[in-house]
Amino acid sequence: MALDLIIRHATLPDGRKDIDIGVKDGRFVVIEKALAASAAQEIDATDHLVTPPFVDAHFHLDATLALGFEGRFNESGTLAEGIAIWADMRGRISPENFHRRAMSYCDLAVSQGLLAIRSHVDVTDPDLTAVEVLIDVKKKVAPYLDLQLVAFPQMGYFSSALMPEQITRALDMGVEVVGGIPHLEPTAELGHESVRRLTRLAADRGLMIDLHCDENDDPASRNVETLAYETKRLGLQGRSAGSHLTSMHSMDNFYANRLIQMMAASGLQAISNPLANMFLQGRFDTYPKRRGLMRIPELMAAGCTVATAHDSMLDPWYPLGKADMLDVAFMTVHAAHLSSHQGMRDCLRLITELPATILGLEDYGLEVGNHADLVLLQASDVFEAIRLRPARLAVVRRGKVISSTSRVTSALKLDGRPSSIDTFAIRASG
Ligand SMILES: [Zn+2]
Repeated sequence: MALDLIIRHATLPDGRKDIDIGVKDGRFVVIEKALAASAAQEIDATDHLVTPPFVDAHFHLDATLALGFEGRFNESGTLAEGIAIWADMRGRISPENFHRRAMSYCDLAVSQGLLAIRSHVDVTDPDLTAVEVLIDVKKKVAPYLDLQLVAFPQMGYFSSALMPEQITRALDMGVEVVGGIPHLEPTAELGHESVRRLTRLAADRGLMIDLHCDENDDPASRNVETLAYETKRLGLQGRSAGSHLTSMHSMDNFYANRLIQMMAASGLQAISNPLANMFLQGRFDTYPKRRGLMRIPELMAAGCTVATAHDSMLDPWYPLGKADMLDVAFMTVHAAHLSSHQGMRDCLRLITELPATILGLEDYGLEVGNHADLVLLQASDVFEAIRLRPARLAVVRRGKVISSTSRVTSALKLDGRPSSIDTFAIRASG
């Protein structure tokens, strides 16, 4: 059998070792040990981990790489200052500037093995400039990256009389997910009302919905309850997501448990942003300082589809990041105490198969028949991948290597004896 590509002797996320992966016409055609076939291109993956591509279920491509625009930085580190800076600068950003930053981020993402992104895009601007630009970017990157856009009213559904129309115009232009931000509405009741109107809009149009929801430290912020209720009532199960949900961190356990059961029963998906929310939340606390995370292990145990996402990079909300979803997994291990053997495996699922389900990606994953998309890492297994966040030796999309990074080694000169060390290969020897 002549194949297009074979990855030899790979380790898979489930722990299987020495597996050969055969690719033909952009699809996985065989995944087995000692594959008796040849291919035009063969890659040796001995002792190295192969994963499906990383998927980011929550990002902001319109704001990324705009850190320090006109010399302004978020000095307080709060969500509120981030929004204020964005609201002030947004109108002075040119279409070319939006385009350049979004394309740069997509290039970086691909180099990190991140091949699918759901990006919210602010629809506050009456001209919808960012929407227009990102729809163009989506088309340009389509051969190598799946970009899904969310119509996001950053200042709130009720922030202006025009906002409902802005959202529907963006959807008419081709944006495929309904967005919102109920905790930012002027009153709690208007927050709940925005959830009702936006879920109705999604149901009427047969679209997915993903709301920034309860992104604060207020245990009384309970818009997610209405979102779960409407998700079930309107039949939006499996295509409705609550992003952030950081108020869950501060709720009492009795109510949180009731809410988690309700979310699971309603088929509501949940997207956590550990990097940005560990940074933004708890800013009004003294000590102990609360950290801004939904209850990830408990939601997973209840049967909710959960993802962890990057949210921001070098923008008014988060001054760090490198489009590396393994950074997200590393933070999740610590912040959510997903530190058991299975917990760390789950941290990889939270940045691969689970967000792929939320985005509705078709034919995703390391199975015969699926798209031949994968990442080869300079790590021996899942645990080492999260510990080291190592080089992406190869990124494959539809059977073609679209990015590669050289193996990293350090050259030493000690006591006049030159040698080299593969720092990624130093492991516990027991
Ligand atoms: Zn966001």
